[in-house]
Amino acid sequence: MKPVSFRYFAPRSVDEAIDLLAEHGEEGKILAGGQSLVPAMNFRLARPASLIDINRIDALDYVREDGGQLRIGALARHARFETPVARGVLAAFLPRVARHIGHLPIRCRGTFCGSIAHADPASEWCLVATTLNAELAIMSRRGRRNVRPNEYFAGALTTTLQPDELLAEIRLGLLDDSWRTGFAEFSRRAGDYALAMAAAVLRLEDGRIVDARLGVGGAADRPSRIAAAEALLTGSDGGPDIVREAGNIAAEAIEPLEDIHASTVYRRDLVRAMVRRALNQALTR
Ligand SMILES: Cc1cc2nc3c(=O)[nH]c(=O)nc-3n(C[C@H](O)[C@H](O)[C@H](O)COP(=O)(O)OP(=O)(O)OC[C@H]3O[C@@H](n4cnc5c(N)ncnc54)[C@H](O)[C@@H]3O)c2cc1C
Repeated sequence: MKPVSFRYFAPRSVDEAIDLLAEHGEEGKILAGGQSLVPAMNFRLARPASLIDINRIDALDYVREDGGQLRIGALARHARFETPVARGVLAAFLPRVARHIGHLPIRCRGTFCGSIAHADPASEWCLVATTLNAELAIMSRRGRRNVRPNEYFAGALTTTLQPDELLAEIRLGLLDDSWRTGFAEFSRRAGDYALAMAAAVLRLEDGRIVDARLGVGGAADRPSRIAAAEALLTGSDGGPDIVREAGNIAAEAIEPLEDIHASTVYRRDLVRAMVRRALNQALTR
């Protein structure tokens, strides 16, 4: 199918883009990589009257380190993260995640911020943003605001982003050498959306975990941190019994989706396995 007809705007600056968003309100949609929006329009699941294409706004196309954070502009594409974007633990972690996102053509067009705006429950970047408690920088003609994932993701494909707002930048806190990371994902075929995935970010001191961030995605309507498992891990040596128990806690903590791809029981089992894999990866150097 083809989309319903729409008006097309190609602003050259952020100010112009947010003016257009304010003008078009519910009827307007940002076009970033188009890898989720265009298929939805072709199936007529999305019928925006106006498209505001941000691809010509060079000021949004960046990934840079600044003030202890990795700052990711709205036009940074998935493929940019396939190789380390900088030095350090975080920059080495992101390529491990990026290669699970769809296929190369999708990664060459789709954007990190577009994934966060779209909020697919199986989005790898949504899980990363949640696990690392990213700062989401949002702009509109009404001003700027920064939000954290727990006040942003509201359900499958649902966020607190307003129709007149641009998700301008994502900020991830840099991780020093005391941090270790792990990521595990299960999908039916390479490039498919995850049925379940887990990200583990642990800080170790003298062989003990002193800070633990554990996120699970793909299995429920939005990514989530598993606070009870983080509490269990913190202060422990991350031995096999602890890792096994953290997997059990995560599997029980989530409310899994049930669909044609997997039952809730199967998804719980996958979460258990992905959490254990991600933790073992983080704990083994
Ligand atoms: C076959 C296929 C397989 C895929 N597999 C995966 C996968 O395994 N994992 C995964 O995470 N994704 C996957 N994707 C989706 C892909 O990652 C998209 O790139 C991503 O979901 C959306 O980013 P985009 O830049 O393409 O956004 P677009 O498609 O341009 O936009 C998506 C939505 O977000 C809004 N939007 C985009 N950018 C902004 C912004 N800066 N501010 C405000 N609103 C904005 C748009 O208005 C629209 O509503 C797949 C896509 C396809 C077609």
